[in-house]
Formats: sequence, structure tokens, C-alpha cells
Amino acid sequence: MKIIHIASETAPIAKAGGLGDVIQGLSKELTQMGHQVRIFLPHYSWIRTENLDSYHLFNEAFPLQDDYGCHQIQLHEASIAGCKLLLFNSNHPKKFFEREEIYGYPDDLFRFFHFCRMCWEFLKMQKETIDVLHLHDWHTSLILLFHQFLHHTIKIKKCIFTIHNLEYQGVCSIEDLPKILNPIKIEKEFPDLFQKKQMNLLKTGIILSDKITTVSPSYAQEILTPQYGFGLESTLKVHRGKLFGILNGIDTEYWNPRHDPFIPYNFSLLDTAKEIEAIKLKNKCFLQKKLNMNSSSLFLIANVGRLAEQKGPFLLKKAIEYFSQTPHQIILLGSPSNAKIRHEFEQLKKQYTDSDHIRILFDYDEKLAHLIYAASDFLLMPSNFEPCGLSQRIAMYYGTIPIVRKTGGLKDTVFDLQTNQKKGNGFVFLEQDPVIFLQTLQRALNIKRETLCHLKKSVMQINPSWSESAKEYMAIYEEE
Ligand code: ADP
Repeated sequence: MKIIHIASETAPIAKAGGLGDVIQGLSKELTQMGHQVRIFLPHYSWIRTENLDSYHLFNEAFPLQDDYGCHQIQLHEASIAGCKLLLFNSNHPKKFFEREEIYGYPDDLFRFFHFCRMCWEFLKMQKETIDVLHLHDWHTSLILLFHQFLHHTIKIKKCIFTIHNLEYQGVCSIEDLPKILNPIKIEKEFPDLFQKKQMNLLKTGIILSDKITTVSPSYAQEILTPQYGFGLESTLKVHRGKLFGILNGIDTEYWNPRHDPFIPYNFSLLDTAKEIEAIKLKNKCFLQKKLNMNSSSLFLIANVGRLAEQKGPFLLKKAIEYFSQTPHQIILLGSPSNAKIRHEFEQLKKQYTDSDHIRILFDYDEKLAHLIYAASDFLLMPSNFEPCGLSQRIAMYYGTIPIVRKTGGLKDTVFDLQTNQKKGNGFVFLEQDPVIFLQTLQRALNIKRETLCHLKKSVMQINPSWSESAKEYMAIYEEE
């Protein structure tokens, strides 16, 4: 099949969170299955082209006209981590993709509108049939509007839209839409797309796509409810017949403690449980030294993720306060999603500056994340909601035990040891209540060393690879 993924992120070159991992991991798996897969990505100016496996000019520049004039679109073809990419650049005067970060700018809507237009102008020139056009999140759903409403000859058999996170919806006013679209015509045909002269781009993706997927079976159910639907639950209910939940995998070549270049001491299932424990301890000592913490074989608990409201910052703060009163250690590696959260955690960081067993780090640090997964005993994810969550899947593959709130993909991958005799692989709580949360934490810390040692090896045996999930995507791609 000829499959095109269009997204705002692709690991390892342009990643803010799980979306980047998914685009790379799924594309790689589909490529290995023999399909012809391409990822379309903005040519962010900070992409280190020397780190790509290949990189060359792809096309004769072609023009794109907008309010700022006529721009020449230049494409580079590249490959990285088993994936083929097309990087889109237009030297736009607004320097849309010459910013430090992927998201977080007042003109994000226009940045991704421009990306969609570049992709569309290129797609229009394609003569071959595209079997699957797979679009990800609101940043790319405008392409569905172009496809539906602009006259063209391009042949696309199926449009798939994946919701990676329902919280981010991309709402714009009708006037913001690119001039090539005719809102009056659109409103006539699809009145549902507009509400009070505003368009919700995620909703547009839901309505106009042939199939919708989201990144775990439980999240696919949860988003039909007011608690998790972010106002789109009724739209989703109308379209539930084409909604599927497919659990995200991880690229087990890239994330593999057996040969991970970012950890000093490698380990694998070939080692005994005791050996794994000993090697993880050596990684722990290395990490403790690196972060100037005291060297201790007591428990190390970690959290790696975007520091956003979604991730349960209230409970994370409770955990840090709790650990200040125990000899165990906690490391939080988080990229703050807004100034308020940054401020709150900066206060906490100041409070514990002198502590030798609490570390709060605000960097986005891919290498350090690998080391933390390898060195920790537990990974904490008290998320308010979690579409899938990759951190817990990665952590388990590195022999680290998850402590999670029972929601979305966490519910599908982590099972409580106390209540699930067969599948138990971690510690799970449901209530967003600090008392219950701390009881769960306490329960984890009270685990017998011997039990923990065997549990570490057994969670490494869970296969988090893309192989099964990619087959499920193929079934959706192929379904009539
Ligand atoms: P989300 O998609 O909500 O960001 P996931 O758990 O699905 O959360 O995926 C998070 C991915 O991003 C993992 O690969 C994790 O290691 C990585 N990550 C998130 N924040 C950081 C950070 N501050 N430093 C390094 N890696 C991070």
C-alpha cells in the first residue's frame, strides 16, 4: 500500500511527546511489513540534517500563494530510524517553522494551516493513487477540508484521522481559514463543522475522515463521555461506528535496554532477575552521581513527561512532598506546558534545592530519559487522563514498575498486583484523591525486595512492540 502520514512531530528529530514516537514507530513497522510509507513533516529550522541517515533536495520548487505573497515550496527527502520523510519548507516571511519549539505560539493555527497548504499543493501534483492518507491531530485536519471542497484530480482511497489527545482541538474563526476555501459552501454542506462562526479543527477531522482512530481501546470508550470528551463527546457518539482504539506500541529497537547507547550498563532478558537488579542498580548509581544525589540503593521513583494539567501535577506535587519525608528518592523530568505549571514546580524546586534525594528538572532531555527509565525502580503517572501513555510502556521494557491512575491507555497496560493475580504488573489507583494516591505509593514502597526483583524481569517480558498494533491499523486501512 502507498501510505502517507502527515503530522507535526516525528521522533527522534522532532518530538515533543508521544505523538513523535508513534509516527516514527508505526511508519517503521508498516515499512517493514512491505508498504510504501512516507511521513510529511514541516522542515523545522533546528532539525539537525547531519544526523539524518539521508537528506537531499527532492523537487523543483513549486509556488504557493497566500496573503503574504507567492512562496516557493521546497521539499527535502530524508530518512531516519527506518522511516522515509518529506520535509516541507517555504521560507515564509512569518518564519512559521523557524521557532525554537514545535508548539506554543500565538499563531500556531496559521503555522499549521500553512503546513497543510504546502502538503495539499504537493498532493495535488501526485499522479499515483494514494491508498491511505493518515492525518494526525488538529494540525493536519485542514487537509480533509481541502480534499473535500477543492476541485482536484488526486486519487485518495481512504482518509484516516488519529486523535492523539482530545484536549487540543485547534479552534479558529471562519475568517482565519485560508482564502482558497469557501466557508459559505462548506457551511451549507456541513453545518456541523461551524459553531457561532467558529470552526473546530479536531471536530472537522472527526466528521470528514473515513475512519477515526485513537491510541488505546479504553480512551476510545472514555472520549464518548462528558468526563473525557472535552465537549466533543456527542460528535464522537454520532461517529462511533467509524471510531477505533488501537494501543500504541514502542519502537523496541530504539527503546531497548539490551543495546541502548544512552545507558552505561546494558541488560536484557538473557540476564537473571538478580543480574537485572544488579545492573539497574549500577545505572542508578551512575544517574545519582550525574544528578549530584546521594548514592543509595533505596527506591528511586521517577516521572518523565510533559508537565501539563493532563499529567496530574497536583498529585505529582503531593508525591514530591511525601518523598521529602522519606529516605527514598524521586526524579521528575518534565517539560512544563505553561507558565503557571512552570511557576508552581519552580517553587517546589526552590524548596528542595538542598535535598540530596529530590530532583526536579525542566529540560526536555531524550538521553537522560533513557537513563532514568533504566535506573529507576518505579515510574509514576498519576494522569487525569491518558490517551495511551508511552512512558509506562517504555519503563516496563526497562524493568521499571509503573504506578498509575486507572485511565485510558494506562488502564489497558497496567494492572494492579493486588486485584489482578494473572496480569498484575504494577500499582493502580482510580480516585483523584491524595490520600488514596499516597496509600498506593506506600503500597509500592512496601513491596518485598525479592518480589520486586522478579517483577522487574517479568514486566520486561511484556511485548510493547508495534507488530500487533500495526496489523490492527492495516485491518482498518484495508477495510471497505
Ligand atoms: P504524551 O504523548 O502525553 O506526551 P506519552 O507518555 O505518550 O505522553 O509520551 C511521552 C514521550 O515523550 C516518551 O517518549 C517520553 O520519554 C518523552 N518525554 C516527555 N517529556 C520528556 C522530557 N521532559 N524529556 C525527555 N523525554 C520526554
